[in-house]
This record gives sequence, C-alpha cells and structure tokens, in this order.
Amino acid sequence: MSGIYIHIPFCKQACHYCDFHFSTSMKNKEAMVLALAKEIGMRKNEFGNEFVETIYFGGGTPSILPIDDIQLLIDMVYENFDVADNPEITLEANPDDLSDERIRELANSPINRLSIGIQSFFEEDLKMMNRAHNSREAKHCLEEARKYFDNISIDLIYGIPGMSNEKWKQNIATALSFGVPHISSYALTVEPKTALKKLIETGKIAAPKDETAQEHFVILTEMLAKNGFVHYELSNFGKQNYFSRNNTAYWLGKKYLGIGPSAHSYDGVSRSWNVANNSLYLKSIGEDKIPNETEVLSVNDRYNEYVMTGLRTIWGVSLAKVQDDFGGIFSNHLAAESAKYIREGFLKIEHNTLKITHKGKFLTDGIASDLFLVNL
Ligand code: SF4
Repeated sequence: MSGIYIHIPFCKQACHYCDFHFSTSMKNKEAMVLALAKEIGMRKNEFGNEFVETIYFGGGTPSILPIDDIQLLIDMVYENFDVADNPEITLEANPDDLSDERIRELANSPINRLSIGIQSFFEEDLKMMNRAHNSREAKHCLEEARKYFDNISIDLIYGIPGMSNEKWKQNIATALSFGVPHISSYALTVEPKTALKKLIETGKIAAPKDETAQEHFVILTEMLAKNGFVHYELSNFGKQNYFSRNNTAYWLGKKYLGIGPSAHSYDGVSRSWNVANNSLYLKSIGEDKIPNETEVLSVNDRYNEYVMTGLRTIWGVSLAKVQDDFGGIFSNHLAAESAKYIREGFLKIEHNTLKITHKGKFLTDGIASDLFLVNL
C-alpha cells in the first residue's frame, strides 16, 4: 500500500502565517501541470508492484487548477501505477475557489474527499491572517459541498491573538453544524521569515500565547469528543471510517511518492525531497531529471520518527516493535526516559504499547523529543 502526493505550488495570495512552498505568480501554471504529469510518468517504477491506495492534491492551493488539469494528473497516475479499487482521492480546496458550479464539477470527477481550508468563520480572523476568502464564502461552500460530498475535512486554526474561548467555541460549533466528519486543527504558529513574524515584531499584531492555545486545545478535544469524533492524531479528529487514509499511511510508516516542487517522498528506507523552487523544478523536469536530494535514514532517525508519530497517534509506540526493529539499546533507552513521564501521568503503557495520556496530549511533541536517541 502506498500513496501519491501531488504538490500544486500556487496561491492567490500569501497567508501571513504560511511557510509552505508556493508562488503567487501564475505565470508558469500550465507548464507546471505538464511538468507534474511528466514527473508522475518518470517515477512510475518507484513503487514496484505496490498498489496506490491514496492520491492527495496538496499545496499551495490545488483548487486553483481547472478540472481538466486535475483530471489529467489523475489519469497520469492511473496510466503509470496500479491503483487500488476505491482509492481515497483528496483535493485541498480554499472556500473562494468553491463556487457552486465548481463543487458540482469536482463531484463529477474522481475526487472523493475535500479538505477545505476554512481556518475560521470570523471575518476579522480571516483578514488578520490574510486569507483570500471571507466568512460568507466559508459557510456557503460547506453548505453546498455537503450536498455532493460525504467525506469532507476542514482545517481550523486556534490560538489566534484576540480569540476568546467563547469565540473559539462558536467556531467549533459552526463547523459541527455543517456535519463535517473530519476536522484538522492546528495552533497558530509564528514561523521564521513569515509576514506574521514581522507584524508581531513591529507591534502590529499581538503574539499568540501558549496558554490561550492550550485552553483552545482542551475546548477542542472536549467538544469534538462529545460529538463523536475520535482524536486519532494530535491535530486530527475524525468520525469512525472518516480518518484520513492518506495521512494515516504516513503515520504508520508506509511508502509515499511526492510529486512537484518541495514534495517529499519515502520509500521505506530513505527520504527524498524535490527542490522548493518552481523555476528550478521546471528546468530540471524539462531536462528529464528529478530535482531531488535523498537521505538514507539512520536507525536513530527511524526510531525517533516512530516515537514521534506513535505518540501523536492513537496507535502509540509498540514496545515489542521497538525491541524487534531497533534492538535492546533503543528499548532500554525508551524505558529509562519514559519512566518519569509515566510516574507523572503524562504517558501510560497499555497492552505493551506506550501512549500519551489526556494530561500529556498538549505536550506531546516535547515529550516525544525527550525520548529521542540522538547519539549512537
Ligand atoms: S492558501 Fe495555504 S498554502 Fe497558500 S498561502 Fe495560504 S496557508 Fe499557505
């Protein structure tokens, strides 16, 4: 089982907080689609005989592409790979691209899952983050998309400066009122070299506070649990049968192929990533070369990644797997370093699996990194 990720590196405008790879110039959009199609063909042998179970259009803003371009890229995947029956095919979409007509077009295409970048239903938050859509579009596209799509995920951002707990509850309640079966939710983070960082440094926007983010996270987990969502990954909540198959495969260490500028791939042993520059990517694909760098993961890297993803998900860290796949040194290290967190109630062991507790959830990433083994 494996997945194909296709990165569409264009956005209408730059959200203040974003550090993904994208360009706001559409100059090379047509050339990019052809290059992506070509890269899919160039990499057709990378999965051997494995079936492709998921295709994921991420970005950037994939919903910027006309339906014919999306169809062309899906056709290329089918022509070059063995695709399983009923694959999950996700398109990340922004509300301003989801007109009623567009939603109907997508519903008539092989896309069977939408991941919509709502972020907030409040106008002032959307303006502050420089999102391209407004509150009316956020609500209307969900109303319309629910008529045609059963499998919809939305993104929501919490910890936004000035967002009270009450307002955050209203955002979640609005999301729930549309009956979406999956929500991904992240704290607003201030990445280096973003407009948000500059706006905070120059005093134009207040910095997000950890305490607010923590309170919002608790509200989120409680409200979604009450409404039948499973908190299956730190930032992801789904109703039964609606967990993201694509992301679950990443977290369970399955292989994936990343197509397009900045896209990452993993073949079970090594990780590679394409150049994060549209012009260089186009030039290289034009010369029949995949513009990527590769790193073979050391045993430490693989252990550290397993601990991080295991603790972030409901599947936890299997102590038997650590012993079998990594050996006694790693197993002993994990037992020694986790003991304190188990005593303090941040971690627990259930059925020989190490898991984060409710108390530890908000601190998951920090706790996981304390269990890493860096020097061997
Ligand atoms: S639409 Fe998405 S990828 Fe584009 S700038 Fe905004 S957050 Fe970044």
